[in-house]
Amino acid sequence: MINIQNLSVEKDNATILKDVSLRFGQGGITALIGPNGAGKSTLLHSIAGLIEPTHGTVAVEDINITTARPAERAERIALLAQNEHVTARLSVRDLVNFGRWPHHRGRPTALDHQKVDEALAAFDLMDLCERRLESLSGGQRQRSFVAMAWAQETPWMLLDEPLSALDPRHVRDIMDRLYNLTRPGKGQRSVVLVVHDLGVAARYADRIVALKDGQLVTSGPRILQMTGPMLSKLFGTSLSIDYINGKAVVVPS
Ligand code: ADP
Ligand code: MG
Repeated sequence: MINIQNLSVEKDNATILKDVSLRFGQGGITALIGPNGAGKSTLLHSIAGLIEPTHGTVAVEDINITTARPAERAERIALLAQNEHVTARLSVRDLVNFGRWPHHRGRPTALDHQKVDEALAAFDLMDLCERRLESLSGGQRQRSFVAMAWAQETPWMLLDEPLSALDPRHVRDIMDRLYNLTRPGKGQRSVVLVVHDLGVAARYADRIVALKDGQLVTSGPRILQMTGPMLSKLFGTSLSIDYINGKAVVVPS
């Protein structure tokens, strides 16, 4: 469970998050939506324990994330930051292997190698695995970072705009994979995803959290909360939800 109570974040005398309270259980995909500058990345980093709240508390499962040790956080949470990049000359395989760090602490076992192979296969990276990250396209690199977060095998995956550079096939592949991973059953995980593609949110999210100007606009089951009027108000432009062959699409209206 993620339990956020009265969270406020201020930086340089600016209020970035204002009194956000939010609570949701394990499993499923939570889409974090809202206009640019709404505070989505700040909220995600606060959940990951990388930003200290000015007020309020953030708990993930049994721990207060602000006071938790880094190792405790790494067992529970994998964070993929927005526009993640590395400057070291790493291969895709090296990067994904980094995701296993909390498990192997620099001494990977056969199991770690197996998990890396599984992640490479799951994200269609086998053919690219010896390539250096700097030689990849933006979308290929993005998939490599998602594979790294996946390989960490944490109950929570926090992904900040992981789809922004992906072609339609890979958006679908990744979302299908995250969807399956977050269904009930053994090894079920929970994903919190910042996403601007509202069609993706409409099709895959179980819940939504909508932020604007650092404040919570709404949160809850996507089916109840994600409506044309809510989206129009959130983004300040007229939007409606339509259905094509039973699949939700968000269209300008
Ligand atoms: P989003 O991810 O929704 O686009 P962010 O969480 O990145 O929004 O940022 C929210 C607001 O906080 C923006 O107006 C941004 O300019 C501001 N902000 C982010 N980081 C800082 C910082 N270190 N100092 C001052 N303002 C910041
Ligand atoms: Mg952001």
